[in-house]
Amino acid sequence: MLNENVMAAVLEFRRKRDWEQFHTPKELAAAITVEASELLEVFQWKSHDEVTSLLNRPSRVRVEDEIADVVILLSYLCHDLGLDVNDAVRSKLKKNEVKYPVEKSYGNAKKYDE
Ligand SMILES: [Mg+2]
Repeated sequence: MLNENVMAAVLEFRRKRDWEQFHTPKELAAAITVEASELLEVFQWKSHDEVTSLLNRPSRVRVEDEIADVVILLSYLCHDLGLDVNDAVRSKLKKNEVKYPVEKSYGNAKKYDE
């Protein structure tokens, strides 16, 4: 997910603070959810036009910051689990290809079992 240099910086940030002890898989999963909610909070109660406007102004840094928080925590979790995120995504895409064949899903946002 992150390139080698950024990943090294992310891990160093954590190591310097001795935060590995707090980063159990369960706590990281919880923190990912909290940060994803903070991302959603940036858009909460805004109309489509207000969201578009927000994303076209310097205030979009709020969105960038929350995306970064989610990615940092996901990176810790993948690292700690020894998980190659590219392999995991390729594997999940294969499953999604079966669930959502193009001929059934093209232009259709319904869930596979609807
Ligand atoms: Mg945050």
